[in-house]
Parts: sequence; structure tokens; C-alpha cells
Amino acid sequence: MSEPLTKTKTYFREARVVVDVDVSLWLTKPGGKIDAAKRQAEDVKKQILRHVDGVAQAYVEIDTDIVCAYCGYDPEYDDIDGRPLCCDKAVAEWQSRIKEAAHE
Ligand SMILES: [Zn+2]
Repeated sequence: MSEPLTKTKTYFREARVVVDVDVSLWLTKPGGKIDAAKRQAEDVKKQILRHVDGVAQAYVEIDTDIVCAYCGYDPEYDDIDGRPLCCDKAVAEWQSRIKEAAHE
């Protein structure tokens, strides 16, 4: 962080504890992993609210990654026409959608 250009003061705003939920059990089970992870996280949240003093609020946040359904890689897109850049199957789907849209 760069040095401020003027004299500054620091005020307290919030304090939080971030808890990473152990979802390793769900990673090996097929299907519904996000919903299962949400349920696990909600359960941990309930346990925190029930057993820990000094908690004003707890909330669940889920991080997800979006990948191409065909190849599993990040589906980057061409800046000009929006064509997917990851694999031939994604390009074929994109082309058929372009054709469908042209006929509507
Ligand atoms: Zn792909």
C-alpha cells in the first residue's frame, strides 16, 4: 500500500471471523454438490450461532467456478464475435445457436 498524501486517521468499522466450511465429503459424491455444500455451510452457521458468544450475525457465501460443460476449462470468449475459445464442441454449439437465432 502506498503512503497517503495527507495525514490520515483510522476508524474501526467492523470485525469478522471468516470460516471455511469443510465440504470435502461432498466433493466425491456425484450431483448436487453446490446444494449439498450450501446445506453443510448453513449447518455450520447454525452451530456457530448456537454455540459461540459475541456473534452479531453469520451468513453463508458460496464461491463457484464456471467452466465449459464440454472440456472443463474456463470458457473464454473472442472479443469480436463472442465465439468460445476453449474447444471445438463449444464452438459447434455456439455456431448452431447463431443459426437458430438467425431463423427466429
Ligand atoms: Zn470447452
